[in-house]
Amino acid sequence: MAGSSATLSSPFFTDVHRAMAEAADTYLERLGERRTELLHVILDQRRYPEELMEAMASLGVVGAMIPEQYGGSGAGLLAVAVAMERFSAYGLGNTLAMLTVMDGLAILRGGNEEQRLRLLPSIAEGRLKLAFAITEPDAGTNSFNIGLRARHDGDAYRLTGEKAWITAVDRADMVLVVARTTGREEVARAGLPRAFGLSLFLVPTDTPGMSRTEMATVGIEGFSQFHLYFDDAEVSEENLVGEVDQGAAVLFEALNPERIIGSSLSIGLTDYFLTRSVQYANQRRVFGERPIGSYQAVAHPLARIRANQEAARALMYSAAEAYDRHAPSTVVGTYANMAKLLSSENAFEAADRAIQTHGGNGFVADYMLIQMLAPARLAKTAPINNEMILNYIAEHDLGLPRSY
Ligand SMILES: Cc1cc2nc3c(=O)[nH]c(=O)nc-3n(C[C@H](O)[C@H](O)[C@H](O)COP(=O)(O)OP(=O)(O)OC[C@H]3O[C@@H](n4cnc5c(N)ncnc54)[C@H](O)[C@@H]3O)c2cc1C
Repeated sequence: MAGSSATLSSPFFTDVHRAMAEAADTYLERLGERRTELLHVILDQRRYPEELMEAMASLGVVGAMIPEQYGGSGAGLLAVAVAMERFSAYGLGNTLAMLTVMDGLAILRGGNEEQRLRLLPSIAEGRLKLAFAITEPDAGTNSFNIGLRARHDGDAYRLTGEKAWITAVDRADMVLVVARTTGREEVARAGLPRAFGLSLFLVPTDTPGMSRTEMATVGIEGFSQFHLYFDDAEVSEENLVGEVDQGAAVLFEALNPERIIGSSLSIGLTDYFLTRSVQYANQRRVFGERPIGSYQAVAHPLARIRANQEAARALMYSAAEAYDRHAPSTVVGTYANMAKLLSSENAFEAADRAIQTHGGNGFVADYMLIQMLAPARLAKTAPINNEMILNYIAEHDLGLPRSY
């Protein structure tokens, strides 16, 4: 890892976080050469290895936000972030685990007791993996535009419509789908808030009437994105999460954790690029005996990235700690959005500088830099673009009027 190990700690850490950090470090160090082999599987075969999925479950990462009574450890969000960051520092960040943690949280906070008892223990054990589907071709940044309809029919709901860019549907057991149970016009006519009328459904991936086609995307190496088509797909009433028409409230609960875990992945990825950059800059000699790392034009950008990484990490830890102690959501949101902004910009900068530091070798596949440029870049756009992050900070932290 780049930097001193002291910076990987925080005044917020308790024994629980230190134990998680140590367990993740021990696991990843023990992998040794296998880390590179696994990264090749991700980059060349475009498949996130099952053994890493299992490791995340057995280390307690996917169960960390689930209370003990439902089979988890209750270690909290900071513990998840600490472990995710470490995996990502080796290019082994796990988006499906992030989505599963986030969906698990929606079930914990918004679901009923039957759902918690039925689903959470399997999530904690790593047996139940969950994708998340909100985006549609015409509903991305503006999720209130969602058109996919869910119609009540006896003791079931029938879903009709389309989703796009949905990650890892082929690896997941269920998809948490955001659907419309009251039409937009009806909501507007009744003078109800824009957030009214959305509901959440857990849809098993083998549900008849739900089909998928793979999209030709890059950005989350090891996992693919899918178009999902729903043609009167039947979903049992017991898989409605939260109250009908009130799904947005449940969803908002999971947004800050998603930004925080996303930040931990970007901060880890920054480490991935810095470590490689420093190693190369210490060895490569171009003019005489001094390595290129002695040139300030090479060293200073890396030092700046390192400083920004630590700033983003401090914000990310603050956000996670605030979330774990149930601070008001505006406090968590401010830290979480700032962490997401800085960590995504910095990870992209780190990728760019790593490639520059490596000269032509930055474009040689074996150095595994150029293939990681898209994953570093993605965080500026998804799951939410940085313009919306700035909108949040401008509105909620600075008190400026909303523009959209
Ligand atoms: C690799 C990948 C994986 C993904 N995985 C998932 C997934 O698993 N599940 C899921 O539901 N979705 C997923 N998405 C979708 C992703 O969340 C959306 O692409 C993203 O939210 C942006 O929506 P959009 O593409 O419709 O962009 P648009 O809404 O069309 O926005 C385009 C651009 O306009 C600008 N913009 C828009 N509104 C504003 C505003 N109010 N102020 C300022 N600027 C604005 C921004 O620059 C934005 O990037 C994934 C996307 C990618 C690329």
